[in-house]
Amino acid sequence: MSIKILVVDDNKLNVKLLKDILEDEKYEVHTLDSGIHVLEKSIDIKPDAILLDIMMPGIDGFEVCRLLKESSETKNIPIIMVTAKTEGEDLKKAFHLGAFDYIKKPIDELEVLARLNSALMFSQQQKKLESMAMKDGLTDLYNHKLSIELFEKEFIKARRHHKSIAFLMLDIDYFKNINDSYGHRVGDEILREVADIIKKNSRVSDIIGRYGGEEFCITLVDISIEEAELVCERIRQAIDSNTFTIKEHSIHITLSIGNCFKYPENPCGYEEVIIQADKALYQAKRLGKNRSETYILENNNG
Ligand code: GH3
Ligand code: MG
Ligand code: MG
Repeated sequence: MSIKILVVDDNKLNVKLLKDILEDEKYEVHTLDSGIHVLEKSIDIKPDAILLDIMMPGIDGFEVCRLLKESSETKNIPIIMVTAKTEGEDLKKAFHLGAFDYIKKPIDELEVLARLNSALMFSQQQKKLESMAMKDGLTDLYNHKLSIELFEKEFIKARRHHKSIAFLMLDIDYFKNINDSYGHRVGDEILREVADIIKKNSRVSDIIGRYGGEEFCITLVDISIEEAELVCERIRQAIDSNTFTIKEHSIHITLSIGNCFKYPENPCGYEEVIIQADKALYQAKRLGKNRSETYILENNNG
């Protein structure tokens, strides 16, 4: 995918100059000749960086920068101010508003490319750090903390809209044996493949996380109890019927699932749902593993 740069300048000659420089380097260039539609356009095309003229009639570069940094959808796009004004006060203002860097007019090709490159590298690094904080490195699923936070969010939404919600805890059976028999690396590969199977057997709206070691969790929103139980069975069977072929080994595993289903009018909090899902999982283990158990938090209409 090509890297998108948005160039904003009221001077057509400058726009053309920048466009030529950037297109020579195979950037995908989008242009605007005023500040008015920058926010809209940025939300629409999601540029990787913005080159923004400061002096423009109507809404100037400072104001555009402020708007972009205010919106959650555009605040992380690096902005490079393009300016003839290099007085300290103006630059100070630009940086204060969140600009990443500036380029002096008249435009120097090498300077443009170098500064743009460093802005792009910085934002790429930022994105990586952000996703590392949210995603589990092995499976690329949401990590424990985020899984719970997202469940809580959906829980609040469901309560507000009088919808049911379900929280599933899934735990691989006898996983310690897998590590002991085949080694930790094979264990890791199985965890990755289990995550993929869970993903393939879920809906896009389901929130799948790695709860811990060999435990996963799924938040199911806008779902009936029958559907929730079907999801459990589908995943359980998909794992049970799969042969994991890793190195020279053919490995069969199973997992147990605890499902807590909460009807809309049950007054309990989100923590209670997690506790009951965990208890249901324990029950599934106790009753012989490779099965799912459901705990229902009924409507309490008094
Ligand atoms: P049960 O059937 O009762 O669930 O038993 P179990 O062996 O699956 O569960 P137990 O909790 O006794 O052991 C879990 C094992 O999961 C122990 C640990 O070595 C392994 N494990 C946890 N995280 C990882 C990981 O990231 N990679 C690998 N390879 N193993 C892991
Ligand atoms: Mg466990
Ligand atoms: Mg286990």
